[in-house]
Amino acid sequence: MHQHTRAFRRAGRLLALRSAEDRGETAEAVNAMALRPLAPEEYAVFLLDLCHNETDRHYSRFPEEELETINALTPGRPLMERHDLRGSLPRGVFFRSRLHRENGRVSVRPEVYVLRTPENAGFIRHIEGGVYRETSIGFAFQKPECVICAQDIRRCGHTPGQTYDGVTCHYLMRGVKEVIEGSVVPAGSQGTGFVARGGVDAEAPTLAMARRWADPAALAPLTPPERAWADE
Ligand SMILES: [Zn+2]
Repeated sequence: MHQHTRAFRRAGRLLALRSAEDRGETAEAVNAMALRPLAPEEYAVFLLDLCHNETDRHYSRFPEEELETINALTPGRPLMERHDLRGSLPRGVFFRSRLHRENGRVSVRPEVYVLRTPENAGFIRHIEGGVYRETSIGFAFQKPECVICAQDIRRCGHTPGQTYDGVTCHYLMRGVKEVIEGSVVPAGSQGTGFVARGGVDAEAPTLAMARRWADPAALAPLTPPERAWADE
């Protein structure tokens, strides 16, 4: 079953939080993750988009049912820096997630809390100050399905981005198995960014898709069975 599994990253954006009226529910949701009740002043909460249902510049796309899977798998997963799962511990925890719909676009929009410890003070300030602007999700899925022929695009011979009888080839990411983490990453090339507090539902710009996954050279191999894809 792991034969087709791929772990890779996808850039999103960090929005901001948080409205006063939902503090009670937010505190309840945060404290469901904590081992002791936390006072609201002990943590910062941020809102972000992780991924969506539009075709990205690498010619891949999530079907909505896969976004639902990601949405369900995200709470409880860690917020990391630059996907560093070896050298650092989490900065925060995703504690709640929902699907956000706007003009036909569907995105996975979780919230994350970060403890206001001395070690995190600079991290939080960099997000609030608009320096740490971009996020990226690491996850695994099974099949990149070609929209032209419905076969695994690593095998079918169609090339993402090329047009066949008027249809631009891209692929659907099917069979999401795991949400590994979400990361703050250096600002990418797509102009994604934070919005000011109170702008939680402001219109989101196109998300950056900063991975190399769709590089044909990267798509070709089917071995090793599990392979991590870096996007930085
Ligand atoms: Zn094909």
